[in-house]
Amino acid sequence: MTVKNKFGFGCMRLPLTDKKDPSSVDQEQFNKMVDLYLENGYNYFDTSYAYHNGISEISIKKAVVDRYPRKSYMITDKMPTWLLTKAEDNEKYVNEMLNRLGIDYFDRFLIHNINTPWFKKAVNAETFDYLRKMKEEGLASKIGFSFHDEPELLEKTLKEYSNGFDFALLEINYIDWNDPIIQSKKCYELCVEYGLEIYVMEPLKGGVILNTSDDIKNDFKKFNPNESIASLALRFCASLDNVKVILSGMSNIENTKENIETFNNFKALTDEEWEFLEKEAEKLRKNIAVACSECDYCIEHCPHNIPISDYFRIYNAKKQNPDSNIYTAYYHKLANEEVSAEECNECGTCIDYCTQQIDIPEELKKVVETFESGFNPYA
Ligand code: SF4
Ligand code: SF4
Repeated sequence: MTVKNKFGFGCMRLPLTDKKDPSSVDQEQFNKMVDLYLENGYNYFDTSYAYHNGISEISIKKAVVDRYPRKSYMITDKMPTWLLTKAEDNEKYVNEMLNRLGIDYFDRFLIHNINTPWFKKAVNAETFDYLRKMKEEGLASKIGFSFHDEPELLEKTLKEYSNGFDFALLEINYIDWNDPIIQSKKCYELCVEYGLEIYVMEPLKGGVILNTSDDIKNDFKKFNPNESIASLALRFCASLDNVKVILSGMSNIENTKENIETFNNFKALTDEEWEFLEKEAEKLRKNIAVACSECDYCIEHCPHNIPISDYFRIYNAKKQNPDSNIYTAYYHKLANEEVSAEECNECGTCIDYCTQQIDIPEELKKVVETFESGFNPYA
């Protein structure tokens, strides 16, 4: 089966009934989003062992597997690389994932999040070989890996381990394309050189592209008042020749509709649009204090449960709108209602889990310094 029109349903930010509880997926709303997506001719669902603490897979079973014929959709799942300690773990997690989803094969299967520490775990647990075996035995139609590190590690992975692999899932969006840390363009070109298809994650950089300064929002309005920022960002990814799938992590019926509209009426970027996005990317990169994509992989490993991405979102907003005091109030509200960023004892546990290679404790210190000197309405 092939992916229809490049538009994949990312199931990592599903609607919630309680926004503080990632496992509280709003099944009714998710079912409606699934219906709309499938009715419009799309067919690709992407999940992982970890999303929504395992509830993403179970919600897909309820919304998709139990309600539609198996041949009408595709399911992609990912090995929890960070949990692997020995070769036998591969089969254990795969069986658990099949059970949660209620299926007996995957359309695509990936090693989740190759970065420096987890690459070693995948190698030690012989996970690359295990995926090749899954493909040979028909348990996965195509195999790949998602990647969050520097091009040097990507090249090593491609050279030494990618034989028999079909695709790589890369973080690509117009901010990261020429970003000196993420280096999406370089990673894309390396995968093309090694004959892999490209699947895209974070086309909106976890919302960073949307939650930007008024100045940047005005630039987009002036450039084309009839097209949203999200639509241009998705078209950027879909216009790249070797991209086969773009995952959009939809979290309500409205953004499902908007994305469907974009992909139903897809037009490749013009040269003028490409140049405009390059200019805006430069501006945006200068504006982002911490390039957090809000994936929240770090949070469940923080012994103090610090809501790290919430602090970074508020911090970024303050940097983009320095004259506004509202963000200082948001910071103190968060510190008051949840866990204060000052609780960070710099243990460093979270760093290995960060998909954006952020020095989290160092950045949290800056967040605290920025806001603790401002007016605290909760004091
Ligand atoms: S370094 Fe700070 S934020 Fe990270 S896990 Fe430790 S206490 Fe939590
Ligand atoms: S700090 Fe890193 S791991 Fe945590 S939410 Fe942000 S990008 Fe994800």
